[in-house]
Amino acid sequence: MTSPNIDTDVAVLGGGILGVSTAVHLLREGASVVLITESTLASGATGRSLSWLNSAGKRSDAYHLLRTAGIDRYRTLYAADPSREWLQFDGGLYWAPAGEASKAEARHQYERSHGYASMLVKPEQISPLTPGIDETAVADVAVFNPGEGWVSLPHLVEYLMEEFHALGGTLITDAGKSRVLARDGKAWGVGIQDGSVYTANNVVVACGAATPAVVEEHGVYIANGSPVSALIITEPANNKLKAVLNTPRAAARPNPGGTLALDHGWYEEQIVEEADGSFSIPEDVVQELAEEASRLLEGNPQLTAASWKVGRKPIPGDGEPVFGELEKLPGCFVAFSHSGATVGLIAGEFLSFEILSGQKHPMLEPFRPERFSRS
Ligand SMILES: Cc1cc2nc3c(=O)[nH]c(=O)nc-3n(C[C@H](O)[C@H](O)[C@H](O)COP(=O)(O)OP(=O)(O)OC[C@H]3O[C@@H](n4cnc5c(N)ncnc54)[C@H](O)[C@@H]3O)c2cc1C
Repeated sequence: MTSPNIDTDVAVLGGGILGVSTAVHLLREGASVVLITESTLASGATGRSLSWLNSAGKRSDAYHLLRTAGIDRYRTLYAADPSREWLQFDGGLYWAPAGEASKAEARHQYERSHGYASMLVKPEQISPLTPGIDETAVADVAVFNPGEGWVSLPHLVEYLMEEFHALGGTLITDAGKSRVLARDGKAWGVGIQDGSVYTANNVVVACGAATPAVVEEHGVYIANGSPVSALIITEPANNKLKAVLNTPRAAARPNPGGTLALDHGWYEEQIVEEADGSFSIPEDVVQELAEEASRLLEGNPQLTAASWKVGRKPIPGDGEPVFGELEKLPGCFVAFSHSGATVGLIAGEFLSFEILSGQKHPMLEPFRPERFSRS
């Protein structure tokens, strides 16, 4: 690939939801943007995410606030066209293992205490609230969160990229492992594997689980806690599921085309890292997850895995997001987050504000990268 060198306001590195969202928000404000990514768009976690839009359970107040604002942005997008098959708000349902009803009760109490819509329901109360669930699978009690939703991130990326191109953004795919270039202690561009250099006033590193490694060569330490994970997409399944299910042995949500998206954490140790750095998962584990998910659904339909993808789920070492300009490398911003689906739109909006205005957004203050080097 040969590309001319170009000068832009911002070079965004990483074609996942955080990079794409930031690029589009910058373009909306009139900036010139080049978006550079290793292979194709959504080739990382964004292409294999459960993408449950939520702020369920317990976390810091600041992260809760950011996530609820994140959900708000999705609601605005949803309201513009509720018929989109890839973004829906039909609630979420959680339950704990049998005999651990107190876990669900504590979660509900906590959620209610800070105003997060949360209902504690018995199995027989579920079907009037949300369809398609086998209530005999529900242990003791469940928590229904009616304000939650889900998005298919590859569809969202495609949608945002239409705007990206309409606003004149430049996209470079298949760039290989690219680097942030710095001179005199300031970022000035991105170098890609074929030797091309893209100069820019600011650089955004939104490389998912690879973000800490990309900034490490500039002496910046960001703790990385990204585990391996797998997402399975089923063949079209004749079922009425609307809510996102989070249960002891399977998480499941509807997906475009009448398919389902499934994941969980119990098989993490069975994922194998290959010599070339890629990951694989045994087919019997995939089948077992499909069977676990079938038990959750009304009529227990047979579920067949159509495809699955395996890789790292980006999670900073302390579980909280990392956003903002690096003190050690002015002109270089990072975006690295767990729950990057939920915060994908809002993070792009706030980072764009910080890059173009030079001001700090108060809601990003608790999430600065320097907390790792200072701790
Ligand atoms: C199984 C699973 C379930 C999830 N469930 C949820 C959920 O329910 N709710 C929620 O909110 N979030 C969820 N997430 C998290 C969410 O999907 C991610 O946080 C989000 O997709 C991360 O987007 P990103 O843009 O930061 O990273 P990615 O999507 O990983 O994109 C980073 C991109 O950068 C590229 N790249 C990396 N290094 C370089 C380099 N040196 N040069 C050039 N390009 C590079 C990669 O190829 C990749 O395309 C889940 C994730 C997974 C994997």
